[in-house]
Amino acid sequence: MKNKVKSLLDLSDSEICEILNKYDADSYRLNQINDWVYSKYVQKWQNMVNLPKDLINKLESSITLHPLKEINCSGLGSDPAQKFLFLTSQNNKIESVLMREGSRITVCISSQSGCAVDCDFCATASMGFKQNLSRGEIVDQVLQLSNRSSSKITNVVFMGMGEPFLNYKKVVESAKIINEKIGLGARRITISTSGIVSKIYLMADERLPFKLAVSLNAPSDEIRKEIMPITITNPINELLKAAEYYYSKLRRFVTFEYVLLDNVNSDEQCAHHLIKLLKNIPCKVNIIPYNEIDSQYKRPKSKVINNFVRILDDAPFTTTIRWSKGTNIDAGCGQLAIRD
Ligand code: SAH
Ligand code: SF4
Repeated sequence: MKNKVKSLLDLSDSEICEILNKYDADSYRLNQINDWVYSKYVQKWQNMVNLPKDLINKLESSITLHPLKEINCSGLGSDPAQKFLFLTSQNNKIESVLMREGSRITVCISSQSGCAVDCDFCATASMGFKQNLSRGEIVDQVLQLSNRSSSKITNVVFMGMGEPFLNYKKVVESAKIINEKIGLGARRITISTSGIVSKIYLMADERLPFKLAVSLNAPSDEIRKEIMPITITNPINELLKAAEYYYSKLRRFVTFEYVLLDNVNSDEQCAHHLIKLLKNIPCKVNIIPYNEIDSQYKRPKSKVINNFVRILDDAPFTTTIRWSKGTNIDAGCGQLAIRD
């Protein structure tokens, strides 16, 4: 196992070709390896049965196939949600969730171990920031969960641990690999940000084809500052300007996520305020009833949730409501956290 420092998923095709060359292997072996990894989700080098045994042995001793090590799994293959705990190469923990809803199979992945953004209502915040994940560590979550799923993954959401836009480069690289190599349509890959304005502009300027979700969570800076300190440097009016710019460049709507917290942002006044705020912005709104964790916040009663959504029905934008799956195993939005 000595010198096994490189991780295949962090190498480019040309870097892999160089290694194959060094081992006197033909370059068509690259396609075979990519097929095993990205289409067949193979877990071990030894299972790549159409490669020569001596090549497999050389590759196995110098390159790690999967940078993440699964250390726990909660839930069954027949449950609506299964949560996986992985150890990164730097020995930090991350979680990923596999969700099933009819023919829709969604993988919720992490972009960082922990998170520095410190939203008051989110369990991940309590871990603090541990590390940015590498491209391979992000892609590996999709590969390992694909291997564990009986049906093909249909959607990937960057809504696990971490703030994707504080690891922008690796998130974009990994989304491109999920799109181009794993073969998932770009519109089936959603990046959710707490609202890093500069990176919304960058995503638009780079004309990235992925979907963008922004965690708005409040109709005013006053309320938002209380629950999301990032509002101080990224105020709502700047977020809205960025969303308009994004639309003007790409003709695609931003989805604003809005976590409903009892007695914080869920009364009728907030709903009317939200309509006023967003009525001229090309967007959609996704309401997420709060998943309770060990915090001061509570999910509003169903009556309050339904009333809030009913008021938004009259808005010019489309509103959907997302009931998180897997809250029984703490796998819902914002419930991912590991305490050592
Ligand atoms: N850091 C990114 C993505 C991960 S959080 C972001 O903040 O957008 C994904 C979504 O879960 C965000 O919209 C966030 O506001 C929401 N969320 C966080 N904690 C939650 C909780 N306990 N219940 C419901 N949603 C939560
Ligand atoms: Fe980080 Fe998102 Fe949680 Fe905020 S909601 S602490 S940005 S993971």
